[in-house]
Amino acid sequence: MKKRPDGKNPEGRINRENEEKYGLRAKAEIKTLRYYFEDDWFDDHTINKMYAKNRHDITHSAYTLKKCIKCNRIWNYYLNNNKKKLIQYWDSFKNLPMLKEDCPECI
Ligand SMILES: [Zn+2]
Repeated sequence: MKKRPDGKNPEGRINRENEEKYGLRAKAEIKTLRYYFEDDWFDDHTINKMYAKNRHDITHSAYTLKKCIKCNRIWNYYLNNNKKKLIQYWDSFKNLPMLKEDCPECI
């Protein structure tokens, strides 16, 4: 088992007497981290929401990235502020596996 950077035994080996001490130190460490990062960084709810949003963008069929067989561009649909369905093209993501489908400009 890997030793902690401070040279103390790994968490699993801490005996009951040291547990309270360790708890206090862990709290202090979190406090230090909070000093360097935004509080949101620790907000599980926010992180989960972000994750869900990304998953949605990737998996929702309307927004799935597609590669045009004819012009070789990566494209997908997106909704603008007026909920209008528009097309956008991407320079990135070229190495990702994706559906091959003619873009609306080539159909
Ligand atoms: Zn095309």
